[in-house]
Amino acid sequence: MKLRKCKSCNIYTLKDNCSKCGEKTIDAHYKFVREKILENKKYILQNN
Ligand SMILES: [Zn+2]
Repeated sequence: MKLRKCKSCNIYTLKDNCSKCGEKTIDAHYKFVREKILENKKYILQNN
């Protein structure tokens, strides 16, 4: 199972094509992890 992302809609999907716009999706696993980390950092900053 690979996590993919549609660049146009900015949504995550497991399909090769976006279910919303039909665009080809990109492998987004690593980026997803990075964004999760950034989200956590933001969360920490907001609570300081
Ligand atoms: Zn899309």
